[in-house]
Amino acid sequence: VRAELREATRAAEIDALTNLANRAALDRRMDGAVTMHRFTGQPECLVLIDVDHFKRVNDTWGHRGGDAVLTQLGETLTRTIIRRSDFVARFGGEEFAILLSDTDMESAVRVTERLLEEIRALRIPWEGKSLALTVSAGIAALEDGSTVESWLGAADAALYRAKGAGRDRLMRAASGAPRLPQSEAPAGSSAARP
Ligand code: GH3
Ligand code: MG
Ligand code: MG
Repeated sequence: VRAELREATRAAEIDALTNLANRAALDRRMDGAVTMHRFTGQPECLVLIDVDHFKRVNDTWGHRGGDAVLTQLGETLTRTIIRRSDFVARFGGEEFAILLSDTDMESAVRVTERLLEEIRALRIPWEGKSLALTVSAGIAALEDGSTVESWLGAADAALYRAKGAGRDRLMRAASGAPRLPQSEAPAGSSAARP
């Protein structure tokens, strides 16, 4: 029974199409990162990735073609993001999330630039054709006073700007984005740290 329970728990946190962690697993991981950050202040970045014009992929190659693209993209993410402490998840639909632990914004930008290059170079075989794609990315650093929601929101807003600026690029969230005033910051946050 215990083994079955463990398997059920594992299955509940794995996305069936890409075999990546799913949204529930990501939420749990982000929650842990936010809590840890209050004690350690260690830098950590969240990268949100959204496939560009994915509706066109589905319209042109069919839903199964679209699924093949998502599977390949998942493999490319896990191949490129190699540190054991990093975390790759399917956020939903054609959106992915990466948590880069102990990584500041400058390093996260470098990792994401490399990832965008890998994806640009990708050619996915499908029914005798070769599909190419691009993605857009938004990066947000975990900040003092961040919550899971504010952290996600900051990355999502940056991603939205990357789309607006023409896609196939990354944008970084401005540091010091809206957060709780010090007096309302949760106990143990930066206010209490030396
Ligand atoms: P944008 O560049 O603005 O992101 O354009 P887009 O076409 O990617 O727009 P949007 O993000 O709104 O569309 C996502 C599409 O992804 C809509 C949905 O039909 C498709 N989709 C979501 N999940 C899946 C899936 O599991 N498989 C396939 N094949 N398609 C999916
Ligand atoms: Mg989308
Ligand atoms: Mg999209």
